[in-house]
Amino acid sequence: MFEDAAPIAADWFWETDPAGRFSHFSPEIERFFGRPVAALLGAERSAFAWEAGEEGLGRYRMALAECRAFRGLTYRYRHPDGVPRWFEISGRPRYSPAGDFLGYRGVGSDVSDQHRTRDALVRAHAEITEQNRRFDAALENMSQGLCLFDADHRLLVWNRRYLEIFGLEPGALDVGMSQRAIIALLVASGRYRVGATVDSVSEGTRTSLTGDGPTSILRELADGRVVAAIHRPMPGGGWVATFEDVTERRRNEARIMHMARHDGLTDLPNRTALREIGTERIGAARDGSRSGLAVLCLDLDRFKPVNDSFGHAVGDGLLKAVAERLRVQVRAGDTVARLGGDEFAVLSAIGDAEDAAALAQRLIRSISAPYQLSGITVEIGMSVGIALADLGEGDPESGRDPGIGYDIERLLKEADMALYEAKAGGRGTVRLFEPQMDETARERLGLERELREALQADRFELHYQPLVDLACDRITGVEALVRWRHPERGLVSPATFIPLAEETGLILPLGGWVLRQACRDAAGWPEGISVAVNVSPIQLRHRGFAQSVVAALGESGLAAERLELEITESVLLDDTEANLETLHTLRRLGVRISMDDFGTGYSSISYLRRFPFDKIKIDRSFVRDCAGSRDAGAIIRAIVGLGASLGITTLVEGVETEPQLATVRAEGAQEVQGYLFSPPRPFAEIAAMLAAQTIPAREPVGTTLAA
Ligand code: C2E
Ligand code: MG
Ligand code: MG
Repeated sequence: MFEDAAPIAADWFWETDPAGRFSHFSPEIERFFGRPVAALLGAERSAFAWEAGEEGLGRYRMALAECRAFRGLTYRYRHPDGVPRWFEISGRPRYSPAGDFLGYRGVGSDVSDQHRTRDALVRAHAEITEQNRRFDAALENMSQGLCLFDADHRLLVWNRRYLEIFGLEPGALDVGMSQRAIIALLVASGRYRVGATVDSVSEGTRTSLTGDGPTSILRELADGRVVAAIHRPMPGGGWVATFEDVTERRRNEARIMHMARHDGLTDLPNRTALREIGTERIGAARDGSRSGLAVLCLDLDRFKPVNDSFGHAVGDGLLKAVAERLRVQVRAGDTVARLGGDEFAVLSAIGDAEDAAALAQRLIRSISAPYQLSGITVEIGMSVGIALADLGEGDPESGRDPGIGYDIERLLKEADMALYEAKAGGRGTVRLFEPQMDETARERLGLERELREALQADRFELHYQPLVDLACDRITGVEALVRWRHPERGLVSPATFIPLAEETGLILPLGGWVLRQACRDAAGWPEGISVAVNVSPIQLRHRGFAQSVVAALGESGLAAERLELEITESVLLDDTEANLETLHTLRRLGVRISMDDFGTGYSSISYLRRFPFDKIKIDRSFVRDCAGSRDAGAIIRAIVGLGASLGITTLVEGVETEPQLATVRAEGAQEVQGYLFSPPRPFAEIAAMLAAQTIPAREPVGTTLAA
């Protein structure tokens, strides 16, 4: 019955009646359509959920209209399970023997698989096209240049950036060009640094390709740019080369490297660089090139006052000028470094103490000449500590091998210790390191630690020494003198620890304590008794000092008129303006200001004109031999006279004997202080003494203070 339906491979058969309604389906249709045959029969074609493309439908309608056969029409069918299927049908009209049109008959087959495969292919093609587009976009927009070579070293792919980096015209390269030909092109057009040949450049690529992973080589171009080329071998042979212009990055790296090793202000090597250079020099000397090495640590004198009074711009200018002078003074091969602040160092190939000292003196002379900085003339000085490493011959005495046992760290430390001693010795001093300085430094460190602990543990106490008015032989005031009650050493003298406290800054908390304690103690004494407190230049220089005095007075309730501050002339030597201002402020409050240790400095007398002191305390060195020497007596007389003319009270310190007292009295001093009347005494004793207003028996009383 369906014999003429062949040769189309058929999954099912179908028939329609003359009206186009389905009149027969073979049972296989049920599996494809997912519906029973009974549900399909009798329906018109349009009742089925199948669709064909425009073109297919047209062909079909035409065939039907003309009662012709049709073949291979494809439909999409919405299967009840939701998964779309495709089928293809063919059919032809059938006629009765009498020639009447009976409808169509045909076959159908499931072509879903073919359809899906075709769809997938179409999608894949679209994806590949898109991928290529993206690849091209990526290639052209890369910040790096790129070339792809095959196993025969022939160019397959390159991008615009590559052409740009190497200054090539857009049409300069062709697919299939050999890598050597490209290099030859670049060499011929003078792209590479002078001296590069086709062979040398090719060799670079070759060696960088022999590694397993990607390796980078730097190409220096004639115009100064540096290009990093990375070659990555590819699995099937050939390689990808990427090129990056790293000129800027390399410049930044170099700058950062420089900054890490140089001082930003003077551009001198910094401490890190000095260590490296020193280590290198010592190493080189060990390897046989003899000659010694001297390390000079330099510290500017009076830099701080310049910086404070003229501002940082002048301070910076000064440091730069100093750096320049030092640079000029040293020999080629020597190193000048800035260690920080106003500290510099010089490394010089000198093995001899005399030569090193001569260099130090030369540097000091050069630094001490006046500077002209933005219309201001400033003068500073310099102190120098020297450490020597005799790298050449070794030391027969200690059996030390040449250079062995020296490292730059140690030399710097030694030079620093020598510098410390130099500064203690006064301005412009040069000191050579000696082993015993090490010991001193260690002791100092120990003492500093103990001093901190003592502050924490309240181990300080105040003793008071009476100041006696010679007109009435009465105590008019006392001087507070600090002592340190040390667990092992007993009472320690301020002469031992005040300098260290000043150096370490501990004088600030310590001095603050002394001030508050003295005011508290004095507040309980009779009205007419004042208290004198010693003030270190460091305290006075510290901003907020006046405020701390006001606070101490406020807390204790002591009247400002009963407080005397003793300063030494070094206060007027340093940053004068700010200090003078503080002193004026305090004096306006009613606090009295005394000049202590008068006569021990260089220009004591000139300082008397700079500030209206209330009292001059003549140093005890003048008293010591005033009874015997006419000169000392004459000096006391002159100072007393000067004081009187300026309206300043004069006090003579350190009166120990009756003859001294007689002389001092004869010279006209108004007040005295000394063991003859009383040594400094603890609070309880002095309080009793003041209450009774008794001046103890006049006889020398020794005090024992640990040094
Ligand atoms: P200064 O201010 O000149 O104090 C006078 C020093 O002379 C005291 O020494 C005192 O004991 C000593 N002295 C008094 N009369 C005689 C005498 O007749 N003969 C002899 N040979 N000496 C006498 P001290 O207590 O050892 O203090 C030494 C220095 O320490 C003080 O000298 C002062 O400059 C400093 N000082 C003491 N206490 C403080 C303080 O609280 N702060 C600060 N910044 N310095 C202080
Ligand atoms: Mg004093
Ligand atoms: Mg004194």
